[in-house]
Amino acid sequence: MLHTDETFIRRTALTTLAIAVISAGLATLIHYWEPDPYLIDLVIPPLMFLVFSFLWCWLYRRPESLPKVMRVSLLTIFLGGSALPAWMSLGQAIYLPDVTLVDRLPPMSSFPMAIIVIMFIFATPQTIINTAVVVWALVSLPVLIYLITHPIELWSPRGLEMAVTLGPITAIVSTLVPFHRVLQQRLTSLQDERALMQVLSERDSLTHLYNRRAAEEFLSICIADAEPSDGVILFDIDHFKRINDTYGHQAGDAVLVAVAMRCSQVLRKNDCLARWGGEEFLVGLRHVGAEVIERIAEELRLAIASEKIEPAGSITASFGVSLVQPTDTIESLLQRVDQAMYAAKASGRNRVMTDKSLS
Ligand code: GH3
Ligand code: MG
Ligand code: MG
Repeated sequence: MLHTDETFIRRTALTTLAIAVISAGLATLIHYWEPDPYLIDLVIPPLMFLVFSFLWCWLYRRPESLPKVMRVSLLTIFLGGSALPAWMSLGQAIYLPDVTLVDRLPPMSSFPMAIIVIMFIFATPQTIINTAVVVWALVSLPVLIYLITHPIELWSPRGLEMAVTLGPITAIVSTLVPFHRVLQQRLTSLQDERALMQVLSERDSLTHLYNRRAAEEFLSICIADAEPSDGVILFDIDHFKRINDTYGHQAGDAVLVAVAMRCSQVLRKNDCLARWGGEEFLVGLRHVGAEVIERIAEELRLAIASEKIEPAGSITASFGVSLVQPTDTIESLLQRVDQAMYAAKASGRNRVMTDKSLS
C-alpha cells in the first residue's frame, strides 16, 4: 500500500516537473523570438528550463530523493517564478518614471498559489501555513501595496486580475489547510483501524497467538515455496477435558494462555505459533530441517511439562512433527503431522513423534 502511494506520488512529481520543463522551454522560445524582450525574460525562463530538467533527471535516477527534489522545485518556483520577477519589476516600476508594474510584471500571479497547492501533496499543515505566510509576505504583499498606492494601475484589467489572484484567491487556497489537516487525521485513524482489523483477523482473542486462518496462510506460503527444510509441529494438551471438569472452564483458559506464553518464549520472532483450535496448537518453522525441528518440538514439550500451571498442576502435551515435501498440499501435510501427533497420544502422551517419512 505504502509502496503504491510512493510510486504514485513520484510519478505525479515527474509529470509535474516534465510540464514545468516544457513550459519553461516554450517561454524561452517565445521570449527569444519577441522583437523587444526584457532582460529578465531572457534570463529566467532558460534558467528554470535547466533547473527543472536537472531535477527531472535527478528524481528519475534517484526516486528516494523525492523530498529534496520537491524542496528545490518549490525554491525554484519561488525565486525564479515569483520573487525575482516581482522584485525586479517592482524596482523598475518604482524607479523608472515611464515603467508601470502592470506592463512589466510577467504573468506570475498564480505562482505563489501553485507553491501552496504543491505543498498539500507532501508537507504538514503547519509547514504549508508557514510557507504560505512567507511567500505571501515576500511576493504578494509588496505587489498589493504597490497596486493600492498606484490606483490607476490597480483599476486597469491587469491590475485588478493581479490584486484578486494575489489577495483573496491566495487567501481562499490557504483556508483549505484546516480541511487538509482534518483529511490527514481521518486518513491516519483509518490506517490505525485497518491495522487493528488486520490484528483481529489473524489473532486468537484468548491467547493472542495467530489463529487458524493465519496459520493456514503461513502453511500455503511454505507449500508454494516447497522448501524441504520447512516444517510443522502440531501439539495437543493431554487430558485437557479433565482440567475443565475439575477446575472449571476459567482455569482451562488460564492453562491455554500459560502454554501459549511458554511456547512463545521457546520460538523465534519469525516462527508461526498458532492456536489451531481448542487445546491444539500448530507451529510453522521455515528453514530448519529434520534435526532442528525435532529438537524444537522437544523444547516445547519440556517448556510445558517442566513447571506446574496452577491451579491445574502438571500439564503435558503430545507432539507430531513433519517436514514439507515438494508434492505436498496443505491437507497432505496436515494429515501426516496429525497422524504423528495421534501416534504420540497412542504411545502414552507427553512425547514427540516424528512423521514416518522423516525417520
Ligand atoms: P486428549 O489427551 O486425548 O487430547 O484428551 P483431551 O481431554 O485433551 O481431549 P478432548 O478432545 O476430549 O477435550 C478437549 C477439551 O478442550 C474439550 C473442550 O471443552 C475443551 N476446550 C476447547 N476449547 C476450549 C477453550 O477455549 N477453553 C477451555 N477452557 N476449554 C476448551
Ligand atoms: Mg487434548
Ligand atoms: Mg484436542
